[in-house]
Amino acid sequence: MTYNINEKGYYGEFGGAYIPEMLYPNVEELRQNYLKVMVEPEFQEEFNALLKDYVGRPSPLYFAKRLSEKYNTKIYLKREDLNHTGAHKINNTIGQILMAKRLGKNRIIAETGAGQHGVATATVCALMGLECIVYMGEIDIARQAPNVARMKMLGATVVPALSGSRTLKDATNEAIRDWINNPVNTHYIIGSVVGPHPYPDMVARFQAIVSEEIQWQLKEKEDTSKPDYVVACVGGGSNAAGAFYHFLDDTDVKLIAVEAAGRGVHSGESAATSVLGKEGIIHGSKTLLMQTPDGQITEPYSISAGLDYPGVGPMHAHLYKSGRAEFIAITDDDAMTAGLDLCKMEGIIPAIESSHALAIFEHKKFQPDDVVVVSLSGRGDKDLDTYIKHFKL
Ligand SMILES: *Cc1c(COP(=O)(O)O)cnc(C)c1O
Repeated sequence: MTYNINEKGYYGEFGGAYIPEMLYPNVEELRQNYLKVMVEPEFQEEFNALLKDYVGRPSPLYFAKRLSEKYNTKIYLKREDLNHTGAHKINNTIGQILMAKRLGKNRIIAETGAGQHGVATATVCALMGLECIVYMGEIDIARQAPNVARMKMLGATVVPALSGSRTLKDATNEAIRDWINNPVNTHYIIGSVVGPHPYPDMVARFQAIVSEEIQWQLKEKEDTSKPDYVVACVGGGSNAAGAFYHFLDDTDVKLIAVEAAGRGVHSGESAATSVLGKEGIIHGSKTLLMQTPDGQITEPYSISAGLDYPGVGPMHAHLYKSGRAEFIAITDDDAMTAGLDLCKMEGIIPAIESSHALAIFEHKKFQPDDVVVVSLSGRGDKDLDTYIKHFKL
């Protein structure tokens, strides 16, 4: 039994590549090459060098002493917030830009909702001197002005998606249309463990550096490479996939995936995909997604832009369905409280996405000698306005 992907591109019953025929050549080229390229020693060398000198890896595994005392268990924070650009997303975009170069692509496209993936993509395009086009819903462009400015400063062209609800899914449609029209010179950088095979697996492998580091860092600190629990928030699921990756098949290590309950799982304003989702196809893969009885995708809601996604990657759909991971949904209010608590107790301002993962300590009791590693996926600078409004600071 493995919880990882099989040779057909499925995690259990989830995954695959449900794509228009016109997209087949692009996806197939990537599928045939990604594993070959990733094992090349020169690729590994270049990837690892950039992770070290540009991203600033390894990210620290920090023992949160005061938080551990409060909850009477051993809490370690995996500090992805300290990466260049402030989150885990850069691990993936560095990997994919190197992949694109190996495949002879000189033009990069991406879609973005909150703008975080757009910024991470624009960053690596600047680094490599490649053209960068980011599709973004018109509504999101208005809501996320600082990230739009960042992308422009980094040299990217931000193209508004004007159709439909003018948000993430419409931006995705535009990016796919672009890719169909530019199959030869263009690589599409997807930002999470979503999309048609091989994207979920490729992104998980690039993010797997997180659990690789956790293993040796924990060995130094606790004399074991295995935590009792790994906890991560889940939007599409990439920081969780990275934090879980090397522990997937080791059931001694318990996995906890934290979703956004928004104003409450059954409030109609939520992004708790695993609980509320039904099987369906989104962004080219079969997974769990929030939909109406006749299969229309439902608009999700979360106070945190990065968790505001109607689907979840196929790996996580399988972890949910198989029971390998425990899924917990955390409301906006509980996440915000846990975020502020981390500020006051450890001097770390977390991204609101990461605050969802931190909130589980109020919901679940751990043993005093449990080692609990929490993925601190990003820093909270981008969320200051939301924190200020919420707490009337
Ligand atoms: C984008 C983002 C997430 C959610 O994306 P995943 O693919 O689920 O990891 C979580 N945390 C931060 C800080 C993000 O920027």
